[in-house]
This record gives sequence, C-alpha cells and structure tokens, in this order.
Amino acid sequence: MNGINISDIHRFENFIASAGRTTVLVHIRPDGDAVGSGAAMLVFLRQSGKDAVLILPHSCPDSLMFLMTEEVRRNTLIYEDNPRAAEDRIKESDLLICEDFNDFSRAGGMAPLLESSGAAKILIDHHLNPSSEKFDLVFSRTETSSTSELLYNILLLMSGIGGDAGRLPADAATALMTGMTTDTNNFANSTYPETLEMASGLIKAGVDREMILGHVFNNFREERLRVLGKLLTDMTITEDGVAYMILDRKTAAEYDIQEGETEGFVNMPLSIGKIKMSIFLKQDKDRFRVSIRSKKGISANGCAKRYFNGGGHELAAGGKMMVPSELKDAEDAARYIEKVTHEYLSSTDRRTSLQ
Ligand code: 5GP
Ligand code: MN
Repeated sequence: MNGINISDIHRFENFIASAGRTTVLVHIRPDGDAVGSGAAMLVFLRQSGKDAVLILPHSCPDSLMFLMTEEVRRNTLIYEDNPRAAEDRIKESDLLICEDFNDFSRAGGMAPLLESSGAAKILIDHHLNPSSEKFDLVFSRTETSSTSELLYNILLLMSGIGGDAGRLPADAATALMTGMTTDTNNFANSTYPETLEMASGLIKAGVDREMILGHVFNNFREERLRVLGKLLTDMTITEDGVAYMILDRKTAAEYDIQEGETEGFVNMPLSIGKIKMSIFLKQDKDRFRVSIRSKKGISANGCAKRYFNGGGHELAAGGKMMVPSELKDAEDAARYIEKVTHEYLSSTDRRTSLQ
C-alpha cells in the first residue's frame, strides 16, 4: 500500500516493541506537519503503553496549541526552553523517531547529539534528499502531501489498526489531519489521490475538519492581515516573473508580528498568472529566513539549494541568509534576489521533474 514495504512495518513494530524509551523529534520552528505528525506518533506510542516523549526544538505556534492536549503536553519537551532536559532524554533513549526532516541539521542545536547517539534511529519524512545512511530504518516518500500522510499510511498497516482509521487514537487522527491540511494549504497543493483517501478515512473516523480549519486558518490576529496588505502593496515583480516580498525587523516590530504569523504569505503572489516563483524574506536577529514557492516547471528546491543555503520540496522550499556576512540589509537582499533569480531562470537547472 502506498509503496510502504510491509517488512519495514514489521521492523518498525519490532523497534518499538524492544525499545524501553522512545523519543520522537521534529524540525526546528515546527509547522503543522511537524507538530501534527509528532503529536500523532506520540499519542499512538503512549496509547500502546510505551514510554514515549516528543521533543519540539522550538515551542508550538499558537494556532497549533489545540494539538497540545493534556496527554501531549505532559509528554513533550521544548528544547529551546529546557535544552538540558531534552538532551538528557535523547541520551537515555533506545529509539529515536525523526519526523518531517531529511537531515539531523534540521533539528538545530540537538543535531550533534542525535548524530552521535547509539540509539536506533528511524526516519519518517517527505523531503528530497534524505540522509538515509544515518538511519536504521527509513520511510521516505516525496510523492505524498506530508509526513502526516505518510505516517497515517504507516499506522494503518500496524497490527493493532488493521487498515481501519477508526482504530487510531482520536487525538492522533486529529493531529494527522491537521498536518496534512496545513502542508497542502487546505488541498491547494501536493494533493494526491491517497491524500483525499486519507481525508475521507479520517472524516469517517470522526475527525472534526471544521474545528481544525477554525484553528489553523481562521483564527489570526488583525496585525497579520494588515502587514500582509503592506507587503503585497510593496511587492516587487521582476521581468522574469519572480515576485518577492521582504519583511525587515523594523516593519515586523511596527506591526507587532509574532513568530509563525507570516506562514502562508509566500503563497499569495502565485495567484498572479504571470508569476513563476515567489520569494519571501523575513529578517530575524542575525539572518533573513527565506521561503520559496514555485509553479510546475521551476524548482524552488534548486533555487533554495543554490542561492539560499537551504532546500525542501520541488515546489516549496526554504533557506537562510546570514546578516551581515551574506546580506547587509533589506535593500541588499532585494538586489541579491533580482540578480540570482535572473541567473537561475536563465539556466537549465531551474527545471523540476514535475512538468
Ligand atoms: P517554509 O517556506 O514553509 O518555511 O518551508 C518550506 C519547505 O522548505 C519546508 O518543507 C521546509 O522543511 C523546507 N525548508 C525551510 N527552510 C529550510 C532550510 O533552511 N533548509 C532546508 N533544507 N529546508 C528548509
Ligand atoms: Mn512537512
């Protein structure tokens, strides 16, 4: 089913059964898919009677706090808030389940400890170029909406579930639906036939989709929409059909923009017909965080890898540029984007495998 090898499921079940302490990890600045797939795995393991803990590198965004149920909260460590506790937990774990990232470097400060850990390591992920050699078991699939969808199909194959989504713990089902919904931008991208089967299975199992949409798409602060208005007004469109918007620290402070509140901004310029690629930069303490989205035929991943120290998926990728060593300020960033996107779109390696 879905390209998942049943012998890998048996191996996964054996790893879980023989582990005393299991720790689930997701990527830095966790999004809906990271928190969703992480919480689902945690709840599944705990309701199977296992000693399991979820580590989030940074705190959970407000819009996803509804996934932090009592059981999830009690068994979650936030590395940023309490690095010692998270490190101790990694050191005493027999099994590490890494979700929604393709390399330990995406776990931030925990990366060296994870690399050197003697625990069994399992990867469940949907990004390009996974560091498979660093794991004992790898579930990696790029032709899927999300890690949550991949995990859904893995859990359905587990012996206690027998293909029946109704047997998943209710909170795990809600978390999986949330991760898939946010990574597809509510079925706007990366939606495969299996994605809709998953949605159907989970709704039949009782997941409340309206409630999820209420939390993740219809519960923003006014400031978010106001700054989006400003960014769209100031947006630059290049002759090559690249749209870019830059949110510098001063403007973010003026509008009181909080962590996670610019999620989704980068998608908006793609609604313009002539736009082939959209780039959004948000200035942080010592860097610009970069988000890139492209339309079929242009690889956002290639652009992120080549010019922005990052990567991701073919049509959705990200990266970072350090300040002041790589970019001095917003004007410098604008010049850089215009130069490199022109070079990129004139080159042959801009193409995706998706035509
Ligand atoms: P977003 O633009 O939503 O932050 O990220 C889009 C995609 O790119 C996500 O799948 C994310 O995992 C990936 N991504 C974001 N930032 C980075 C980065 O710095 N390095 C890599 N390798 N991938 C990134
Ligand atoms: Mn994801």
